[in-house]
Amino acid sequence: MPKIIYLSLLLLFVPAALADGLPDLGEVAQTVMTPQDEQRIGEEILRDVAASGEIVNDIEVVDYLQALGYRLAANSPDNRQRFTFFVVRDNSINAFALPGGVIGVHTGLILSASSESELASVLAHEIGHVVQRHLARMVALQQQDAWKSFAAMAFALLAARSNPQLAGASMQAAQAGAIQKQLDFTREHEREADRVGLQILDQAGFDTRAMPAFFEQLLKGTRFYEGGAPSFLRTHPLTTERIADVRNRVEQLPYHQVTDSPEFSYVRAKLRAMEGSPQQAIAWFQDVLREKKFNSEAAQHYGLAMAYTRANNLEQARREVRWLREHAPRHAMVETLSAHLEFAMGNPREAESQFRRALADFPDHRGLIYGYAEALLASGQPDAALKLLGDKQRIFPDDAHLYELQSQAYTQQGKNLLRHQAQGEAYFHSYNLASAIEQMELALKSGDGDFYQLSIVEARLKQLRQMMGDPKDKK
Ligand SMILES: [Zn+2]
Repeated sequence: MPKIIYLSLLLLFVPAALADGLPDLGEVAQTVMTPQDEQRIGEEILRDVAASGEIVNDIEVVDYLQALGYRLAANSPDNRQRFTFFVVRDNSINAFALPGGVIGVHTGLILSASSESELASVLAHEIGHVVQRHLARMVALQQQDAWKSFAAMAFALLAARSNPQLAGASMQAAQAGAIQKQLDFTREHEREADRVGLQILDQAGFDTRAMPAFFEQLLKGTRFYEGGAPSFLRTHPLTTERIADVRNRVEQLPYHQVTDSPEFSYVRAKLRAMEGSPQQAIAWFQDVLREKKFNSEAAQHYGLAMAYTRANNLEQARREVRWLREHAPRHAMVETLSAHLEFAMGNPREAESQFRRALADFPDHRGLIYGYAEALLASGQPDAALKLLGDKQRIFPDDAHLYELQSQAYTQQGKNLLRHQAQGEAYFHSYNLASAIEQMELALKSGDGDFYQLSIVEARLKQLRQMMGDPKDKK
């Protein structure tokens, strides 16, 4: 979909909201911006955000946050709402909700949370804003600023796309400006999001006391992550009154004794290992281990291994992995790192065998699936890669990267129709319809497909063109 259409769609919502007088809240929330409209805008934003370079694409981080988010969303009062969670590389402590159930979380928040329940409490609060449809209701309340800011953010993202050097700056500006202004939720919204969020947190089995505790520390300004300011406070006005309110509710709920998942600790260590220079990261983990300042010792060894890997000190990284093998329960993230290390150290056979064994135990860990497929492709085994990818597409039918890898495998086999078809699906699942159509057209022209393959591509192309026509009809 061309950008201009997207922007005009956004801007169209403002006059539409004001045109026919204002019906009651509930109705407006439904009519001004339908869930389908929200979904579409959310997907467009996701696509731009994905291209901005400010997003953490690491599949293990993404999958962890998605799993945590889905676990919470599954306990929300609105089970028809779709959710997508993504991680923004930003040290400030924040999370935000966009149309279509799209929720962004800053790395600073993940690193600042001292327990998984604290991280979950902020996510649950954001889910609360989404299920109460606060964005749509703000439009209904003539808060046009919301839409101006969404448009501003879209422009900033466009600029970021056409000029990658600007990406960081404009994304920052978009977040600081747009999200701050537009998502100036009212106190009423905040109370609602707290109330709904707390229910979700409780039903999903987290420690509800984490919510007031984390909020309190944010308010006192005692919880910082290396210069990351708690910008959450700007977008979600927090008062002592509000915290007291949450605390009262918590007292009426049953207490859950909760231990953090190993993933929570490993993901935090992985993000931490990416900060600063490789040498700084190594020193940080060595220091933590020396002074025993940790909740999970295994996670610190994992982080140290990641930091050594960044520094290209693979022998030391392998030593840390060996420590993990001896002292920690078997974990998919450690297995993934170990197999990657073997590959990087020039032992492709050992890497393949580690990937294969680990996948038998953790069949849906995408870090392993990607790693194994990449290793097979790197050593020129497209048949084995295609077999693996085909199996895993049954679990992850919407995974763009699996299609991407499939396309690479077909390229190695010299199969042009299949290569473009798979690449087209990769674009489609990255919300890039125009490029998907282009690839399907190339597939038809490739000249090496049989009748059956050609008719599948033709049918798909027709379908994609219809989808493409849809927003134009709207305009
Ligand atoms: Zn809020």
